[in-house]
Amino acid sequence: MAGCDLVSAQRHSQESNFGIMSVHTMSATPAHRVSTGERINHEAPGRLEHELALRGIRLTRQRKVLLQVMETARRHLDADEILERAQKIDPGVTRVTVYRTLDLLKRQGLIDELDLLHLRGDRHFYESHGPRDHIHVACMGCGKVREFESELYEELKRQISHDCGIEITVSRTEVGGLCADCRKKRSS
Ligand SMILES: [Zn+2]
Ligand SMILES: [Zn+2]
Repeated sequence: MAGCDLVSAQRHSQESNFGIMSVHTMSATPAHRVSTGERINHEAPGRLEHELALRGIRLTRQRKVLLQVMETARRHLDADEILERAQKIDPGVTRVTVYRTLDLLKRQGLIDELDLLHLRGDRHFYESHGPRDHIHVACMGCGKVREFESELYEELKRQISHDCGIEITVSRTEVGGLCADCRKKRSS
């Protein structure tokens, strides 16, 4: 079984070299996928609100604006950037509303807080996540970040869960290195 997954992942890896994976952006579950830009999941707005509604949590208009900003972001945003984008839609959104909403979403397990290997200083970024966890892959030279998700990672988590007897509620993996452009610059 694991062997089949690996073969499948390798096949997808070859496809991704030709840019075919980008077509799969919102498709079911390919064995793995990697973002072309910074994020894989720029989902249609509404899911977070729906999740909160299921838990009996109603939102003010301003909080809805914040969810919309986060769900449609194509980059990882920090609190200041979320505030700035939200105020363009509704100038009444305040910093306090941003922090309270982030706090609520964190407590509900609907967003992740990340530091992206401190490539951008002490800033913390917030993102809603899709059905599968993703790994952040960052270039330590130019700071470019991409997202990678894989059935192999899900398999690893299942194994950790089984071997350690833990029901996993959060997992965070970051990989750093030098991208092809930065390697070229260093060798020239
Ligand atoms: Zn991410
Ligand atoms: Zn780079």
